[in-house]
Amino acid sequence: MRNENINININEKKIKKQLIVITVIIIVSSIVLCAASGGILLYVFKNSHEAEHIQMKTEVMEYKNRIFKQMNKSMQILTTFANTCQVSGIINSKEKMENSIVSVNEANGFVSFAYLSSEGWGILNTPGYGIWRDFTLEDCSNEAGEAIKKAFNGENSVSKLFDSSVYHEKLFIYAVPVYEGDKVIGVVAASDTIEIFKDIANGNTVMGGQGYVHIIDDQGNFLVRSENTLVKKNMKSIFDGPYLSENTKNITKKMLLNHESMFGEFTYNHEKCHFYLESMGLNGWNLFCANKLWGTILPLERIILMIGSVLFIILLFMLLLLYYGYYKFRKNTSIILKQAYIDGVTGAKNLLRFSLEFEDFQKKHEDYSIVAINIHNFKFINDLFGNNGGDKVLRYIKQVIEKNLKEGEFFCRDAADLFYILMLDIEEDKLKLRVENIVRHVSETTRNAEYSYEISLYSGIAIRGDTAKALLAMQSIQRKLYTSVAVYNEELHENLRNKNSIERYMHTALENKEFKLFLQPKYNLQNNQLVGAEALVRWQKPDGTYRYPGEFISLFEANGFCLKLDMYMVDMVCRQIRQWIDLDIKPVPISINQSKLLFFNRNYVNDLLQVVNSYQISPSLITLEILEGVAMDSLEEIDCRIKELHSKGFKVSMDDFGSGYSSLNMLYQLKIDELKLDRAFLQKVSSADAERRKIILEHTISIAKELGIHTVAEGIETEYDKETMRMLNCDYGQGYFYNKPICAEKFRELYM
Ligand code: C2E
Ligand code: MG
Ligand code: MG
Repeated sequence: MRNENINININEKKIKKQLIVITVIIIVSSIVLCAASGGILLYVFKNSHEAEHIQMKTEVMEYKNRIFKQMNKSMQILTTFANTCQVSGIINSKEKMENSIVSVNEANGFVSFAYLSSEGWGILNTPGYGIWRDFTLEDCSNEAGEAIKKAFNGENSVSKLFDSSVYHEKLFIYAVPVYEGDKVIGVVAASDTIEIFKDIANGNTVMGGQGYVHIIDDQGNFLVRSENTLVKKNMKSIFDGPYLSENTKNITKKMLLNHESMFGEFTYNHEKCHFYLESMGLNGWNLFCANKLWGTILPLERIILMIGSVLFIILLFMLLLLYYGYYKFRKNTSIILKQAYIDGVTGAKNLLRFSLEFEDFQKKHEDYSIVAINIHNFKFINDLFGNNGGDKVLRYIKQVIEKNLKEGEFFCRDAADLFYILMLDIEEDKLKLRVENIVRHVSETTRNAEYSYEISLYSGIAIRGDTAKALLAMQSIQRKLYTSVAVYNEELHENLRNKNSIERYMHTALENKEFKLFLQPKYNLQNNQLVGAEALVRWQKPDGTYRYPGEFISLFEANGFCLKLDMYMVDMVCRQIRQWIDLDIKPVPISINQSKLLFFNRNYVNDLLQVVNSYQISPSLITLEILEGVAMDSLEEIDCRIKELHSKGFKVSMDDFGSGYSSLNMLYQLKIDELKLDRAFLQKVSSADAERRKIILEHTISIAKELGIHTVAEGIETEYDKETMRMLNCDYGQGYFYNKPICAEKFRELYM
């Protein structure tokens, strides 16, 4: 089925499959690559969060330590002073106490420095404001009072922050008890500004500039806040505003109450930020460190992020490139496929495409028929209307076929004027009807169209067969103008097999001398004398049976083997004549059938002469028969050849005259010696309108006579035939009435 000559191995499905595989591979590897880089990034981010937590915690602890170091230092000063008071006895002298307070405060620079006796009196020194000598506990703020009371109870304490009316800023105090023996007899107190938290207050940052530390109380209120903080100035508490989620708020409140540390998250300007809360373990104070999450990403991570983005862009670009490539490839392949699969003249599928589809179709269906359609004499149409006209006809036929297809059927144009159709029907009658419909449609339309030339199609159908079988069926009616459809059957196949085996064996047969010379006598109708014989070939197979010319001559003419065979027959005839002469038998002229191929061969006459000369016989004993149809083809060339043959002494006879479309012009132009009237003439003469035919025959014979041409009646089978032809003035007769073709030996026995 597949046309072996077509080497284009493009399989559209295969290409599509490969494209899909490539696309899937690229997409999958892209996904894997993306996932891998995503994983790496995620890992890095997670680690960076941990690093961030550690860093936050470390920096906050550093702050805490610094604050506590400062507080301890101050507390140490107060404790030392309290001890000195005990030892030195200055507690007993207000004046001494006042001096000591002033000098200690000068040395250490507290905002104010005070001593309160358990007896109720007190002294307060505030540099720049002087000495308050009747200072009492009632003069202190609540926060300071509370711390002092704790000190009277024997506890070193630090107060909560309170507002100072003098300083207009928040202050706090340290308070340390003064003992006499085991008894607290007074308290030393010093107030300080939040100067010690100045790093925080000045807005110094942590976390490489992205973090801020605040001090908040256990309610979440800001006590000290960083200057450049994210937190808005009007915010009193970390719980104000929409920044912390409800959940985080609840957790944070709990942690504050329990003085515990925690990490958390809040949203600021649509960005996620982190915070860390560390209890200071003093007065409910806590350090609150807020940090912009993304700002903490280290340069390395930034590079990775960048690489990730670049990777993503590259992948995107690759996918785009792939898509573009795929698009281009599809476009190009579709052009190539079109060129490979479409017939350029009609736009129909070509045989390759048809074969591929048919292969597929066969896998799924059992019921179908292949129809081959061809145009009678397409060459003639091309000659008549030019190639463009021919192409137009082909396109028209394509349209007609297309219109007559059922759903699921398809067709193609093979070479020249050959179309194949796959039809879904399998009933012979239905198929014939459908094909005849196409044939009729084409012939009717063309008859009425501009060409005024009726195009006739012929067709072969192979039910459940293939293109070869359809072609075979079609070829079986190639020369039968009035049959338009043939259906493939085994007989046709047998013929084909036969043909193949003949072709395979013919050369060997010639070598083995299987082609035998048979002779059929030719008689003078007027006097019943033998005038010659016709040489007819018989193929005697090794088993002794015969093959007759009807089985192989047309095949040999088609494949050119006739050139050899006919010359072989000439040789046999000459040899036979030579034999007769050698036996002292007077030879009779013998006619030899010649294929048209020989007549168009330039060396033909020379070759003949060579054979004749080699047997040393006269060319006048040889008559060469050419078929009427051959002469029709090219009168001038044939005429030339006839003249040449005459010049060498050969005679020429025209065989089967009247079987085709004989023309009187031919008789006039070709100077032949003999006209063999086809057997059909005789048959027709004895039919219904015998009289009219007789007249034609009679005149043909008479014209021939006048032109100096002998006439031979073929197929004389009966006495009646003989008499008829004799009456019509025909010169000679040949036929079963006299004898069948017989072998040369028998011929000699009977006639010589
Ligand atoms: P043809 O040259 O017209 O030969 C006459 C054919 O009619 C022969 O058939 C012969 O047997 C047959 N015939 C003779 N008398 C009668 C008769 O009374 N009734 C009927 N029905 N038939 C008769 P054959 O031998 O089968 O040859 C057929 C054709 O094959 C020949 O027709 C000739 O054209 C061709 N042929 C035969 N031998 C050769 C050859 O060696 N070379 C070539 N090129 N063609 C040959
Ligand atoms: Mg003949
Ligand atoms: Mg004949």
